[in-house]
Amino acid sequence: MLLDGVMGKAKRRATLNIVYLTTEAVPFAKTGGLADVCGALPTRVSSRGHRAAVIMPAFRSIRNTPAVVESTDTSFAIPMGHKLIGCRLLKSHLPDSDVEVWFIDQPQYFDRDALYGTHAGDYSDNAERFAFYCHAALQTIRRLEWQVDIVHCNDWQSGLVPALMAADPQPHASVANAATVMTIHNLAYQGQFPRETFEWTGLDWKHFNHNEFEFYDQLNFLKTGIVAADMITTVSPRYSQEIRTPAHGCGLDGVLQGAADRIEGITNGIDQSVWNPSIDQFLPAKYGVDSWREGKTANKRSLQADFHLEQSDEVPLIGLVGRLAEQKGWDLIVPVLRWHLSENRPTQWIVLGSGDHRYEKELRELAENYPNRFALHVGFSDALAHRIEAGSDAFVMPSHYEPCGLNQLYSLRYGSVPIVTPTGGLADTVVDCTESTLADATATGFHVRSISPEALDEAIGRALNLRYHQPAKWAQLVETGMSQDWSWKKSAEQYESLYAKTLALKLASKHPKSR
Ligand code: ADP
Repeated sequence: MLLDGVMGKAKRRATLNIVYLTTEAVPFAKTGGLADVCGALPTRVSSRGHRAAVIMPAFRSIRNTPAVVESTDTSFAIPMGHKLIGCRLLKSHLPDSDVEVWFIDQPQYFDRDALYGTHAGDYSDNAERFAFYCHAALQTIRRLEWQVDIVHCNDWQSGLVPALMAADPQPHASVANAATVMTIHNLAYQGQFPRETFEWTGLDWKHFNHNEFEFYDQLNFLKTGIVAADMITTVSPRYSQEIRTPAHGCGLDGVLQGAADRIEGITNGIDQSVWNPSIDQFLPAKYGVDSWREGKTANKRSLQADFHLEQSDEVPLIGLVGRLAEQKGWDLIVPVLRWHLSENRPTQWIVLGSGDHRYEKELRELAENYPNRFALHVGFSDALAHRIEAGSDAFVMPSHYEPCGLNQLYSLRYGSVPIVTPTGGLADTVVDCTESTLADATATGFHVRSISPEALDEAIGRALNLRYHQPAKWAQLVETGMSQDWSWKKSAEQYESLYAKTLALKLASKHPKSR
């Protein structure tokens, strides 16, 4: 009854004040999908009538964007151990929105070449840098005297915030009634540091216990956020289940099982003003679901010409875009690529990626040996990522795990049939092509049935077989994928309901949570 009452109230839409704490948001700082989410979600939520603001570090990259970043008069200092560290607030907006972005300008910590570290490794003072960020974000809310309903933390860098709020015996009026949401964009990155770094929390050592900040005698930012937040989300429903298992829990599966009643999965959206083949500024030929054959053929020809691949409409072009990291399954891709090229199978490949030097070297060798059939671009190129989605017939993404994944969503939108491992967001968003899914017209791609190069090769074989021998069915797959709506609209509505529910449950709970 109580819950019914709470949900009833949650359904009546009230204006919420939501503060997003993140280290990345497009266009100010980006290393991965986190930036896409935090650049888009606040705007979508705000357009639904809520007030949203973002607080992030003033990394060097914020000065390299077209957005205007202003200085402000607000400055303050945070005690960090025996030091007092000052900072000033800077201010801008997310593009085409009234969502304010407040930057914590502390040059010693944040004005560096990279966000978290270099090729040589993570910055050695990351515990100190991001503990400072957590304190400074809370201080920003107090100083600006916002009345906050939801503090939405993202990934480990803001993981201390829910616990710092919970440990505060006299919360400031601005956050006294606020509920906290902790979103896990990738559980593999937890922010775990030696116990001495607990000093940066500024709290009494009594809080260094396994119900709060401590994880096996270390300070673990993400675990801290998970145990203290009122609600936890992941960026796909399947990933929210997987992370509670030893195989995908990255050591935190037990902690996450303990929090099972507070975890929800909401699939990320894609920005349809940027990822839409009918208006895409990067494409030599624009197209929609009614004109995909001509459109994709023209884009394919242009890729083949620019990368000196053999000009052929018939031979399938297989695309890949992503970080050259183990997560993305390059250990499966490289052998399959080698088989296709060395056995002279009728396929062409185009790869865009950067990261691990080991994979880069293996891919470069193949590209040098088979220049007419394998095009490689090592680096980061937005334009080429768009062109590959448009010009390829199929897109391969055999991730070992995938919290959500954006590239398979772009592939669906661009009619490049995705071939994926059924894990996390890939399982949630790509429907495997079987007799029954073809018959009920739900099929959109192909699942790799186990984690091995052989299984990946088999899935690619199934896909190519359909393309050659059942072109009408292939067209059905392409058109089903292209017609789906993966825009932010649905995800933003789900976040809105989650915020309302979390706040209502928080306000309804008369007793301290027992965890
Ligand atoms: P992750 O966040 O794990 O890297 P996602 O698929 O969620 O993976 O998001 C990756 C984002 O980064 C996508 O927008 C993708 O197109 C982009 N991306 C990754 N590597 C490159 C690259 N080398 N060049 C251009 N864009 C890239």
